Amino acid sequence: MTSASMPKAHDSHDQDQFLTILSREEALKRFEAALFPRPLASQPRRFADALGCALAQDVVAPVDVPPFDRSNVDGFAVRSADLASAAETAPIRLTLNDEVIACGVVPERVVLSATATPIATGGPVPRGADAIVMLEHTQPSGARAIEVRRAAAPGQLVSYAGSDIARGEALLRAGTIIGSREIGMLAACGIADVPVVRCPRVAVISTGDELVQPGGRLRPAQIYDTNGAIVTAAIRENGGEAVFAGAVPDDEAELEAAMRTALEEADMLVLSGGTSKGAGDVSHRILPRLGKPGIIAHGVALKPGKPLCLAVCDGKPVVILPGFPTSAMFTFHDMIVPVLRRMAGLPPRSDAKVTAKVPVRIASELGRTEFVMVSLVEADDGLIAYPSGKGSGAITSFAQADGFVRIDALAEQMPAGSGTEVTLLTPHVRVPDLVIIGSHCTGLDLVTTPLARGGLTVRSIAVGSLGGLAAAKRGECDLAPIHLFDDKTETYNTAFLAPGLELVPGWRRMQGIVFRKDDKRFESLGAQEAVRAALADSTCIMVNRNQGAGTRILIDRLLGGARPDGYWNQPRSHNAVAAAVAQCRADWGMTIAPVAHAYGLGFIPLAEEHYDFALVTARKHRPPVQSFLDALASHEVRAALENAGFRPA
Ligand code: AMP
Ligand code: MG
Repeated sequence: MTSASMPKAHDSHDQDQFLTILSREEALKRFEAALFPRPLASQPRRFADALGCALAQDVVAPVDVPPFDRSNVDGFAVRSADLASAAETAPIRLTLNDEVIACGVVPERVVLSATATPIATGGPVPRGADAIVMLEHTQPSGARAIEVRRAAAPGQLVSYAGSDIARGEALLRAGTIIGSREIGMLAACGIADVPVVRCPRVAVISTGDELVQPGGRLRPAQIYDTNGAIVTAAIRENGGEAVFAGAVPDDEAELEAAMRTALEEADMLVLSGGTSKGAGDVSHRILPRLGKPGIIAHGVALKPGKPLCLAVCDGKPVVILPGFPTSAMFTFHDMIVPVLRRMAGLPPRSDAKVTAKVPVRIASELGRTEFVMVSLVEADDGLIAYPSGKGSGAITSFAQADGFVRIDALAEQMPAGSGTEVTLLTPHVRVPDLVIIGSHCTGLDLVTTPLARGGLTVRSIAVGSLGGLAAAKRGECDLAPIHLFDDKTETYNTAFLAPGLELVPGWRRMQGIVFRKDDKRFESLGAQEAVRAALADSTCIMVNRNQGAGTRILIDRLLGGARPDGYWNQPRSHNAVAAAVAQCRADWGMTIAPVAHAYGLGFIPLAEEHYDFALVTARKHRPPVQSFLDALASHEVRAALENAGFRPA
């Protein structure tokens, strides 16, 4: 990079033009260069509160551990020379001194030749004695003497003062992360306060007019503030002290005031949202006013996370994470955690990696390093990494993933079947006992609940019926839940089975027309009549389903070629249809009965959809598969399904 194209960070006039997208590596490099090296502030802490902190200085042992020569067993303190000739056939008699050295008792008598003093484990070895004989290796000989039948080596069963930790010894080195073992060493030396690297205080602000704090009530068009909670927790997970300042509306003056207040106390500020260049996105405009050098990077060639904004204001890092929770979470872990951990004196995270094969082609945007969240399943020839297809707006794509794969900025795709490295989000690969890949249904959870109670781990990956069948054919799952209607035979599912797969009947889901209960147009009509009524009213808007959905086939039949308003609104799930009607974006649509009831909608039954399982025959004998089949057939599960509005087959 030439100096001409370098940002003149000191010149705030240039900052609005500073919209060059940097590579992930370049952005991180510049951010770190603007922040480090920096002195790590040290702070004394009670050791009990120092868990997980980094030690700021070496700690030298102030005392010996143990502080005195100590008996390792219950027995007698003796002079080893007295016992030199002791043997099974030649016992030596020792007279007992007139004291018992329990723990915490200071010995008063000297152990003279041919005497012994009773001593407890941990008792201080008395003067004169140089060895301990175990109680079990002696016999009483009258009230005030013992017999010993084996010799004792000098020093036997004695821990000498300082043998564990010697006074003046370096006990712990600066930079050590304090865990329970380190705390044990500190406690043994009597150290109550330790110098630790002061936890960076990190202020967290969410931005957006639409945000409501969890626990509050959502009004139309509002969403819960997810980022505030996850960022706060992730800061704590990485050695920071998080101070959540709440959500601030997209108002420049209000936000600037909140940012200034936060920065007064904090060492670092993390915001989320408002970093795109859209209407109402104001946070990045405030940054240049908060301190030098200001914005370091705005726009990083990273996916998810392109709108990430990194700034340093008078030495303090200020970060604006993208608004979408998965993007926020991912960029935080990838770009901010390294900086936070360095400020906390912690070593970089060491994430475990495994290799796995991707079963499907993953398209990627040229020019951006792309991270794709994956779920892992085990196939015969190794691990398979399933991309989670939910996109950066979906919190579950990060939260439920096992790890992520990285697609290079210069690659347009990762071809199906390629081997790749997966960075794990957990310390170890969690290989599930049972893998279910295909169409999702809330009824599925009712079947897997008893399995989970029995200690089995079940992974269910929602990729739709066809995706599930493909996975089953490749042997990547045990079962593929499907609901595919075959036009020719007018039956569900059986026609779609390939060799090696067999059908396990699941349950029936009543499909029908949903409408708002107060909508008189549909009151007490049958399905055909309801659709006729809807078509007759030009103000009536429908919501459709996606091509390929079994439900869509039913809708098209009912419409018989008509294309009413809303026809092109084609969401991919039963819930989206119900939400559209409940929220008055549409007046009618087709969904399944349990979903209609959950949304409090009126429901006109039409036809039953068959939700069954394509079972991979080669895996049928596996005990977890048998457990699944048993659960499916059980009285308990069938009752639960019925209760939820399904009809077990
Ligand atoms: P923005 O960058 O502010 O335009 O936000 C992009 C998207 O992320 C929008 O759909 C926002 O509603 C959403 N979003 C922003 N902040 C949050 C947050 N704290 N929690 C959940 N979603 C958010
Ligand atoms: Mg916003």
